[in-house]
Amino acid sequence: MDNRDGKIWYNGELVEWREAKTHVLTHTLHYGMGVFEGVRAYETAKGAAVFRLHDHTRRLFDSAKIVGMKLPFSEEQINQAHLDVVKANGLKSCYFRPMAFYGSGKLGIAPKPDDVQVIVAAWAWGAYLGEDGLKRGIRCKVSSFTRHHPNITMIKAKANGNYMNSIMANSEAVRGGYDEAILLDAQGYVAEGAGENIFVVRGGKLYTPALDVALDGITRRTAIAIAADLGLEVIEKRITRDELYIADEVFFTGTAAEITPVREIDDRSIGAGERGEITAQIQQRFFDIVEGRDERYADWLTYAA
Ligand code: PMP
Repeated sequence: MDNRDGKIWYNGELVEWREAKTHVLTHTLHYGMGVFEGVRAYETAKGAAVFRLHDHTRRLFDSAKIVGMKLPFSEEQINQAHLDVVKANGLKSCYFRPMAFYGSGKLGIAPKPDDVQVIVAAWAWGAYLGEDGLKRGIRCKVSSFTRHHPNITMIKAKANGNYMNSIMANSEAVRGGYDEAILLDAQGYVAEGAGENIFVVRGGKLYTPALDVALDGITRRTAIAIAADLGLEVIEKRITRDELYIADEVFFTGTAAEITPVREIDDRSIGAGERGEITAQIQQRFFDIVEGRDERYADWLTYAA
């Protein structure tokens, strides 16, 4: 990732991609205390459009507040940084990685409060779980790792260190020949994927875990809005592992994963073992919205041009 042409927004400046570096004594590298976002821009008829940029930036600032980190930039500056990196790198569509981390000013558990560094990087990135996964669905495994407890790590914060849990769960699933992990919460109920929220469809209704055990995903919110448009009821409730097995359909939502059908869990076919009808409808509407073909949601798009 480090050896390529392009520019990264780094503390207010657009710097050369190869020069966007930090020291090995960077505090966040040692302890994982940082906050980040994953954002996408899509190619539309009017150029690259960032999807729900303000909501993502808001969540970045909320994450920082939760972990007690003070960002030295305003939300407007971070929003503008996204648009600047799209233009500087000539991107038609991309994935963004905004991140705030503590620099190398001081080591030891307590960070130097005013040593907060902020980056916004952007690069072209296709379907996270594969084009085939979007069409045919993916295979998942319920993880042997438990999702975070709200009072151990702050689940509403999209915080760097929280992702050790996601990485271990995802690696375990992939090593076992699956595409992604599904994590249960500390009580044994379904929480979310390693980097995705989860929805279950049964009897024409949608079910998803409440936000006490899962990240408040922006694609989750989008899927709920689409479901309402389609006249589908969405119920937030505790979901058990066996409810997954007997679901008509299961799908993941996430900025990287978009709307990805899950066709198999723990070697059991979900529904017909392919992308379900309701998942397909939500996915279609999702791409219409993000690619600027649905005027009702024009407010969710910020054009880079
Ligand atoms: N849960 C986790 C653990 C995630 O990392 C993500 C990706 N940010 C999501 C859910 C989905 O959130 P969003 O739709 O905002 O990308």
